[in-house]
Amino acid sequence: MLVAPSILSADFGNLEQEIKAICEAGCDLVHVDVMDGHFVPNLTIGPVVVEPVSKASSKPLDIHLMVENNNFFVDLFAPLKPKYLSFHIESEKHPHRLIQKIRSLGISPAITLNPHTKVEDIEYLLEDLDMVLLMSVNPGFGGQKFIPSVIEKAKKLKELIKKRNPNCLIEVDGGVSDKNIKELKD
Ligand code: ZN
Repeated sequence: MLVAPSILSADFGNLEQEIKAICEAGCDLVHVDVMDGHFVPNLTIGPVVVEPVSKASSKPLDIHLMVENNNFFVDLFAPLKPKYLSFHIESEKHPHRLIQKIRSLGISPAITLNPHTKVEDIEYLLEDLDMVLLMSVNPGFGGQKFIPSVIEKAKKLKELIKKRNPNCLIEVDGGVSDKNIKELKD
C-alpha cells in the first residue's frame, strides 16, 4: 500500500518544513489538492505554490484536480512533472482525449470519482488509466468524515480492474485514518 498525505492538512505558513517532515516520515507520494472555486466550493493553490512544494519534496507529486476546466489546469501543472495527474470524470466531456494528452506529457493519468458516481461509468477507460481515485468524502474540504459505502465501491472497482487493467491502482481520498485503513487494504 502507498501513502499519499495531502498538503491540504499542512500549515501553509510552514509549507517547506511540513513537506520535508512527511517525506522523512516515509510517505510514498505528496498529494496536492487543486480546487478552482467552481467545481468545488473552495479555492486552494496554483503552480506558484506547488512549484516550491515540488522542490522541497523528495517524493513524487500526486496532483488531484477538482476543477471545471481540466485542459487549462493540465497545461498549468504539467511543467511541474507530477507522477500522477487526476481529473474528475464529472467535469470532463472528453475523458479519453484528456487521458491521452496527460500520458503524452509523460505523466501517469488518473481519474477521480465523486462519492455518488458509479464505477461502471469509467469501465471503458480503465485500460488507459494508471490510477482511479475514489473520493471518500465530498470534495472541497479537508478533515471530513469517511463515507463507508466507498468500501463496497472499491470492491466493485477492484473486480473491473482485474478484468480490464490489473496494473491500475486504486486511491482513496478523504477521512482515511487508522480506523479504516485495514478495511481499505483488505
Ligand atoms: Zn485529493
